[in-house]
Amino acid sequence: MHFPFKKFFSYYKPYLTLFLSILVCAFIVSVVTLVFPLLVRYITKDVLAGDLSTALSKVYWIGGLMLVLVAIQNIGNFFVDYKGHEVGARMESDMRSELFEHMQKLSFSFYDKEKTGQLMSRITNDLLLLSELYHHGPEDYVKYLVRFIGAFVILYFINAPLTIAVFCFLPFLIVFVLYFNKLLNKALRRNKERIGDVNAQVEDSLSGIRVVKSFANEFIEIEKFNRENNRFLDSRKKTYKAEAYFFNGVETFIQLITITVVIFGSALIAGKTLDLADLITFLLYISFMIEPIQRLTHMSMQFQEGITGFQRFMEIMNLMPAIKNNLNAITLNDVHGEIEFKQATFRYEDQLDNVLVNLSLRVQPGEYVALVGPSGAGKTTLCSLIPRFYDVTDGEVLLDGINVRDIDLQSLRKTIGVVQQDVYLFTGTVTENIRYGNPSANDEEIIAAAKHANAHDFIMNLPNGYNSEIGQRGVKLSGGQKQRLSIARVFLKNPPVLIFDEATSALDNESESIVKESLESLAKGRTTIVIAHRLSTIRNAERIIVLTEDGIVEQGTHTALLARDGAYAHLYSKQFEFQV
Ligand code: ADP
Ligand code: MG
Repeated sequence: MHFPFKKFFSYYKPYLTLFLSILVCAFIVSVVTLVFPLLVRYITKDVLAGDLSTALSKVYWIGGLMLVLVAIQNIGNFFVDYKGHEVGARMESDMRSELFEHMQKLSFSFYDKEKTGQLMSRITNDLLLLSELYHHGPEDYVKYLVRFIGAFVILYFINAPLTIAVFCFLPFLIVFVLYFNKLLNKALRRNKERIGDVNAQVEDSLSGIRVVKSFANEFIEIEKFNRENNRFLDSRKKTYKAEAYFFNGVETFIQLITITVVIFGSALIAGKTLDLADLITFLLYISFMIEPIQRLTHMSMQFQEGITGFQRFMEIMNLMPAIKNNLNAITLNDVHGEIEFKQATFRYEDQLDNVLVNLSLRVQPGEYVALVGPSGAGKTTLCSLIPRFYDVTDGEVLLDGINVRDIDLQSLRKTIGVVQQDVYLFTGTVTENIRYGNPSANDEEIIAAAKHANAHDFIMNLPNGYNSEIGQRGVKLSGGQKQRLSIARVFLKNPPVLIFDEATSALDNESESIVKESLESLAKGRTTIVIAHRLSTIRNAERIIVLTEDGIVEQGTHTALLARDGAYAHLYSKQFEFQV
């Protein structure tokens, strides 16, 4: 896969100065630490081997110098740790905002396919690991590269053959690390998908908790959850196994290197080409060379986790919204509300069959039409093509004679108000939910909208009136009350075109009649398409359109259609029988 380096590094840009100063600081700290063993060597080899009467005062001076170096080292490390993490966290937060913003732009077809929990996992876990890579990555490379190269150069000058002996191990070590990197990368990717599945399962079960409990099916949910949880556990077990091989493998290399140095070094001492002080220095510096290799395992893990996180981030960022503005999109003003379908054909992505085929239909400005027909005929689908929730596969949909694809999306969707059967309200107060229809509305306008929607009285009876919290998704309200809030929301939006999709189907008779009244008052003077299951509710429509699997089979007024004795009369008599 082609890795988008440019994009990857672009997130450093706002923090470049701070980040570079962190790297410089890490560099200085590493150089300082390299000096310590040299000072020890100076003491053991030169000072203590020379004139002992002056040696002690020299050692004091060196001790003082060491204290200064310790201070530099610790202050530097403090800065690197603290500010480094901060830079990482800021980059992570930038990316999280960008990802969320992008997700808001993606179309219905994307959300039809994706699981919410998986998406949440990408926004939280993945980016957390990525921020670790962003700051620790370059920092660690600077730190350990300086130590490794520094130690190598110093050791080489102390004793070249011993240094080369150590280096003979490196090619094997590198092959070993590369092999396990690949293995771990796969394992970590699988972990991320599995934790995403766990999240998705939790999201699904908890959102549907009312259904779960009403069926007393907690055990099914627990079973489903445990299945995902166990799959995640299995995946982690495999990862830990690979990690255990990896860490212990590297550890073995380190031990072999140390043994080699001790034995080969002793032989060199016996051959008088090395002295004891040098061997001690060698062993001290060995840790400088080994530490980077040891860290290599950790660094490569961090690298893998960060990179897979970034790849998962980019998978979403690379998705283009299926529905977006055309160049030169038209912004509407003064909409009359004429809607026309011209030879419209539509199929859902990944589906085989067309839902609508060559459908033509024209709704006059201000007309009140009803759409009826068997469930699954495509009524909801037809209406969702007007605000471009989906685009037609073939043919066109026009608003005021303009192809909806040529209209600015924001402007198009502001023109159309949709009231659905399953109302979605947001956690918050009544006022906040109504204001959703027009964020700039003032309190008087909100109250007026609530009054139009027959919602004012019940709102005033809530404990805190308009400031009452309605609970998550409006759980504290009845179905009819939720529906009236959603109608108030559309009143405030004040769109010239309305779609009521089974808006009263879920309500009892009493709430239905109140909601119907609000809907009718909303519909005044606007083009309205009503999808209704109960035919009794649409008898007064100016025109009734019957949609079946064969397309539009009939249209006309209630009386005309009954007289025709066709599909509508059939549907009607079936419902009538059912009701008596
Ligand atoms: P109606 O509103 O008349 O009951 P719909 O428009 O909801 O019918 O559905 C029409 C057909 O399209 C049905 O066969 C349904 O299964 C299918 N369908 C609806 N929504 C989707 C979707 N998001 N993805 C795939 N198929 C869908
Ligand atoms: Mg429907």
